[in-house]
Amino acid sequence: MKDSLNIKAALKGKKPRNFPMVSRVVYGPGSFDQLGEILQPLRTPGKETVVFLMDDVFEDGRLHGRVPALKEDLLILISASEEPKTQQVDALVAQIQSKCESTPVAIVGIGGGTLLDLAKAVAIMMTNTGSAADFQGWDLVREKALYHIGVPTLSGTGAEVSRTTVLLGPKRKLGINSDHTPFDQVVLDPDLAVGVPKDQWFYTGMDCYIHCVESLNGGYINAFSSSYGEIALALCKEVFLEDLSPAEAREKLMMASWHGGMSIAYSQVGIAHALSYGLSYVMGTPHGLGNCLVFTHLEEFYPEGVRIFEQMRKKQGIALPKNVTRSCSDSDFETMTEVAYSMEPLWENALGEDWKSKISRQQIREIFTKI
Ligand code: NAD
Ligand code: ZN
Repeated sequence: MKDSLNIKAALKGKKPRNFPMVSRVVYGPGSFDQLGEILQPLRTPGKETVVFLMDDVFEDGRLHGRVPALKEDLLILISASEEPKTQQVDALVAQIQSKCESTPVAIVGIGGGTLLDLAKAVAIMMTNTGSAADFQGWDLVREKALYHIGVPTLSGTGAEVSRTTVLLGPKRKLGINSDHTPFDQVVLDPDLAVGVPKDQWFYTGMDCYIHCVESLNGGYINAFSSSYGEIALALCKEVFLEDLSPAEAREKLMMASWHGGMSIAYSQVGIAHALSYGLSYVMGTPHGLGNCLVFTHLEEFYPEGVRIFEQMRKKQGIALPKNVTRSCSDSDFETMTEVAYSMEPLWENALGEDWKSKISRQQIREIFTKI
């Protein structure tokens, strides 16, 4: 009964969303080597170009030789040092259009959340005219995207399974949320995450953990979301609190990320994400790290979640950066606070419809000053 009441509260009188999911998925260590076979049927005579967007961390050759690129394909190496931007998407689309004689048959994104989001956005913008910034929001995309394939090399964001691609635009950081956003095919090869630096592994893994805590503790929780969230949470606890072998940890975190993404599809994230968006908008803090930085100050809202987060952090020997906002001006704090405060559904999920009576701008600002 509680579940059905909550889903009604989340939907606010709207019909439940009939949302698309990733159509095909291949899972398993080594499954990356099936990518060539997967692409083959998409290639037809005179129309065979595939565009690979790959994290430039693989420039070292680890993966380069294994990418099944043919001579007519385009392989673009992209740095993930900054989060994806709408202008970057527009420039990539222009580059692809100028270099390819015919419309590509597929866009393949290989990397962490940054490259996955770029691939989704580029696939959409190859068939929709305008700037990616015009499509930030909900259900603004009209034309079907080019066939797009996601190959995660870092686990946690859930970008491989989600219906959004989060972009920094001229006015805001907001996703292109649409039925055309999810990947047509995902390749889940846990071995691709070999070599992720430990801090990064933890920050992005904690993105998944925080998705679960916020989804499971939010007012929007329902049977659909809790079924995925509980599994993802249990997997995160195994990965970050137990002594698994590296291979087992990679496999479990990859599936935690998938389930965490599925959990928020029908619920919502919460306070950590609202604050992290504000921090990242002003400071450029990467998403996973931003979530960790704010989450440690949210004991009042997620006591059990923060306690276990601290256990995980200590077990993994991770020290979070300190005094991150020390040099922020008054107006920086004001902007951060406004961006965080504007994330209405996130606050409502966390604190209920009367959330404005439970948290003030001043309290939000105080949290930012502690980071
Ligand atoms: P990322 O993609 O930004 O990568 C972080 C760092 O890890 C980069 O330096 C990258 O080069 C490196 N890296 C990735 N794979 C590696 C590997 N196998 N070996 C060594 N280094 C590797 O990190 P992320 O945390 O996965 O993604 C963050 C982005 O995801 C943000 O832009 C955020 O907004 C977005 N995001 C999207 C969704 C969604 O549903 N679309 C959800 C959450 C976050
Ligand atoms: Zn997140």
